[in-house]
Amino acid sequence: MRTLLKHAMIVTMNEKGEVYTDGNLLFEDDRIVQVGKEAVKESTCDEVLDLKGKLLLPGFVNTHVHTSQQLARGLADDVDLLTWLHDRIWPYESNMTEEDSYISTLFCAAEQIKAGVTAIAEPGGQFVSGMVRAITEAGIRAKLANSIMDCGEGLPKAWQHNTQEEIARQEEDIQRFHKMADGRIEVWLGVRTIFNATDELLLQTKELAKKHTVGIHMHVAEAKSEVDYVRERLGVQTVTHLRDIGFLGPNLLAAHTVWLTHEEVEMFREYDVKVSHNPASAMRVLGFAKVPRMLREGICVTIGTDGAPTNNRMDMVDEMWVTSLIHKGWRLDPTVVKAQEILKMATINGARALQDEKLYGSLEPGKKADLIIINPDSIGMQPMHDPIANLVTSMHSTNVESTICNGRWLMRDQKILVFDEAALLQEAKERAASIRSRAKIQMPERFPML
Ligand SMILES: [Zn+2]
Repeated sequence: MRTLLKHAMIVTMNEKGEVYTDGNLLFEDDRIVQVGKEAVKESTCDEVLDLKGKLLLPGFVNTHVHTSQQLARGLADDVDLLTWLHDRIWPYESNMTEEDSYISTLFCAAEQIKAGVTAIAEPGGQFVSGMVRAITEAGIRAKLANSIMDCGEGLPKAWQHNTQEEIARQEEDIQRFHKMADGRIEVWLGVRTIFNATDELLLQTKELAKKHTVGIHMHVAEAKSEVDYVRERLGVQTVTHLRDIGFLGPNLLAAHTVWLTHEEVEMFREYDVKVSHNPASAMRVLGFAKVPRMLREGICVTIGTDGAPTNNRMDMVDEMWVTSLIHKGWRLDPTVVKAQEILKMATINGARALQDEKLYGSLEPGKKADLIIINPDSIGMQPMHDPIANLVTSMHSTNVESTICNGRWLMRDQKILVFDEAALLQEAKERAASIRSRAKIQMPERFPML
């Protein structure tokens, strides 16, 4: 199947950052064959689409997505972090069934597809088997992980395991699910936080990652309380401790990374640690990550939405916009974290962080056909004096017209083709209520409910 997309503005995100103002892109089955100004013989194509006035971009890569929390959106607003975790999210997640995890992940994937995301990294949720079913059906790519913990206060009983049990669980997932769905699914290793991981668990996880050549996804230095706790116990902050025990490395995807000293930012550069910046979730309770400094140091910074009860939008387009604002604000410098850097973070840097730079993240011949079509003709996105800035500062996910992953149309003209969206919406609502009732979570009454 050969598909030609012609007369588009193609934002390639290749090494040189080339943009074709009137370009053609040809893909055959799952691969991009040609990108540029050269004409393509239309008679050799099965389908030809004229995209005049539209933009083509690589699919976005969302590097921190809690698929198991999608049905918990709105479950923990306006509460402190410990209430969020111990009274709302842990009871909710620990009461989920495998089927809940499947629907939660599928519902999350629907929001990703609508926002032009073609690859995600899950830091560790419930029932990898449920996630695998959903991702297989949804057609996007995913690095999936189990949430592993071998210590920590207040853990639900179902989650209390020792180090060996946790390592064994991860290895079993790799054996069962790694490289499934035409290779779109990979099993990664997930470490929740340093609160819930002994050094032994960290080091054995690193060994296991090396053995299977997979990445490790971990929440690192996310809250001030975390680095205070580590400093009190060990005399140094989280990242320094991870460096000292030999845990840092290029296959570590570190989420949040808000509380780093300048020296620790340099450690990230030295060990080529990848960063998942989650600006909306950070603004709730975590603080400002040193993104301008990290970018200056050449660190691979990417963007993630986190989970539905933290953000509460799982929308990469919104997340790019928030990224473009917050660093200018706290640095009092409107020239930092520019639109083109943010597009890099959301595409090619994301692919690098997922160890898939050679597969996707830019529109180049030989790469997978993971791409999105943007229709900028809306009241909120026009006019476009500076199209690259518009993509970050004024685009909405409703401007994403179509999403293609692995050469397959997942959404076309804003209609999801891979599952029944209306039926999924109904099922998600019912399951969300049912889990909350099983978990016995009481919601506060904010106004008199008459
Ligand atoms: Zn997270």
